[in-house]
Amino acid sequence: MDNYFRMKELVEQLNKYAALYYDEDAPSVSDAEYDALYDELLALEASEGYSLKNSPTHRVGGNVQKKFEQSAHLLRLYSLDKCRSEEELGEWYSKVAKATGRNPVLSAEYKFDGLTLNILYENGRIIKAATRGDGVVGEVVTAQVKTIKKLPQKISYTGRIEIQGEGIMRLSALEKYNSTASEPLKNARNGAAGAIRNLDPAVTAERNLSFMAYNIGYSDRHFASQEEMHAFLKDEGFETESDFTLVPDAEGAFAFAERVDGIRSSLDFLIDGVVFKVNDTALREEIGYTDKFPKWAMAYKFKADEMTTVLKDVVWQVSRSSKLNPLAVLEPVDIGGVTVKRATLNNYGDILKKKVRIGDRVFIRRSNDVIPEITGVAQEAEDAKNVEKPTVCPACGAPVREAGAFLYCTGEHCAPQVISALDHFASKDAMDIEGFSEKTAEQFYNELGVKTPVDLMSLSVEDIVNLDRFGDKKADNLIKSIDKAKHTTPDRLLFALGIDGIGKKTAKDLMKRFRALDALSAASREELLSVDGIGDVLADNIIAFFADAENRALLDALFACGVTMEEEARKEGAFSGMRVVLTGSLPTYKRGEATRLIEENGGEVAASVSKTVDLVIAGSDAGSKLDKAQKLGIRIIDEAEFKKIIGAE
Ligand code: NAD
Repeated sequence: MDNYFRMKELVEQLNKYAALYYDEDAPSVSDAEYDALYDELLALEASEGYSLKNSPTHRVGGNVQKKFEQSAHLLRLYSLDKCRSEEELGEWYSKVAKATGRNPVLSAEYKFDGLTLNILYENGRIIKAATRGDGVVGEVVTAQVKTIKKLPQKISYTGRIEIQGEGIMRLSALEKYNSTASEPLKNARNGAAGAIRNLDPAVTAERNLSFMAYNIGYSDRHFASQEEMHAFLKDEGFETESDFTLVPDAEGAFAFAERVDGIRSSLDFLIDGVVFKVNDTALREEIGYTDKFPKWAMAYKFKADEMTTVLKDVVWQVSRSSKLNPLAVLEPVDIGGVTVKRATLNNYGDILKKKVRIGDRVFIRRSNDVIPEITGVAQEAEDAKNVEKPTVCPACGAPVREAGAFLYCTGEHCAPQVISALDHFASKDAMDIEGFSEKTAEQFYNELGVKTPVDLMSLSVEDIVNLDRFGDKKADNLIKSIDKAKHTTPDRLLFALGIDGIGKKTAKDLMKRFRALDALSAASREELLSVDGIGDVLADNIIAFFADAENRALLDALFACGVTMEEEARKEGAFSGMRVVLTGSLPTYKRGEATRLIEENGGEVAASVSKTVDLVIAGSDAGSKLDKAQKLGIRIIDEAEFKKIIGAE
């Protein structure tokens, strides 16, 4: 009886969550939390030997919303069975092998996390697009789906065919949308699902969705395998997965899953696992279906990267660039095997936009090597409190200045700010002072009053030898490291200065173009903007930095205390002194290769066409850069001429 009540409770809870997830595209728990309850229900149903009438374990998806026209699919759509370990994957493969009497080859694919779409084409044209709905009947969303830019409006196949795939929002599209949205989207899955299941196609268009085709439903033509379907979809111009492959057995399948898990965080879209399907469609008929999923396919789910937990507090930390960063204190939560207690909220503006309040249950996303982030509110708490905006710096008490979404400490020598700026200045990719750590910066600040890079670079053995944890040898070594670090390169010094937004790669790109700091400080806005990765904000930051008398004095003082920079010798060759732009795709050279050849021959590669560019090398599909070069009368050559110049032919 106890189990009956628990099953009833689970069914009710899961149905409530599913309604929010499928019908409103506004989930109130993470998928991992939903899945844990679902698995508990599955186990109870197995042990009791029955299930309740409205159990989600026997149903595909959610309700079909009345606001949309409804449409029956020509072929039923299913959900997927799921597993989470090599062992479970092996067990499934054994069953498949037993059912077919052989070891079937499997297709291996990404499991895209978006909204299933079923698009009917006839005479090469889109007739109708529908959501999966309950698998039998879906919601008609043709106008919305037609806003997807890369979806072929016309295909060469003229028979009747259902093209199935996932409507997704690329992470770059999500980032772009959220950067200006008054209400940021919590994640790409809800972003895509909410955009498609919206009555106004203009809203769908704004989100810049993509469609990843992975399957064919009903078709007048017979497809012998998943591989054949994939090739057909690709040939007809649909976006398909580039990693699609075949694997011979469960071992191969697991190796694929592990490899994809490793690159998952570098993809521009969300995947929550991989999918394996028996490749041969004739064999599928022998294996069959349950009332929810095909027995010939299996989703291998990755560890969760999102959970919900309670936001307990927000504390403010001062960064080296004087920004006050809000750090969320969380009720500890396990995300994919890692306990997360803290997360970032980016800035004060972000807190307001996401409407996050202390006490609320919030979504936390954690992907490899980035600080976990709060992406939005899952459930509001009745007694939630607003996050207070600090008026003074929590570290030094100086007044706070507000600029756009950010808050800044206005204190002159605010301790954490000074210490992290010194630590950054001395770090490996900056001045590379061996043996100097944040702890040393703190000690020097507190005990010697070292506040600026000049203070640090002017230290002598006598200054530090008597400090705690120092002795003759350690003091001597550190001063030797400082002396060694004084001979540096312009890009290292530029990075060390810690100009807002100038990371190590940008510093390198800037110095490749300007060679010396003097030239950089004298560069015009237009010249700065012509460097890869430099946009309006960074150009402004650079100009403001060098316009500030205090910063110029700091540089002079650094040079006075012995800092010298050696420019990398410029290579001599056919492109010496020339700025070259590459556009379009060249027949043989990849972009990186062509760049290397230009640089090896003394030239410099610029990101965009401007008056300062001497030459444009254009390949096929060259767009606006070529037009601009023609307008400005810049010399344009093709790959054959480029090869002649560098003597490659
Ligand atoms: P599913 O999303 O786990 O798997 C089936 C779907 O995978 C298919 O419909 C298809 O759209 C998609 N898919 C992606 N790539 C594919 C590929 N290469 N080949 C075939 N299909 C591919 O199953 P489901 O039944 O749609 O939904 C269950 C999921 O939804 C669960 O994982 C659950 O976590 C989540 N959910 C979450 C909540 C919540 O509140 N957070 C509520 C309900 C369901």
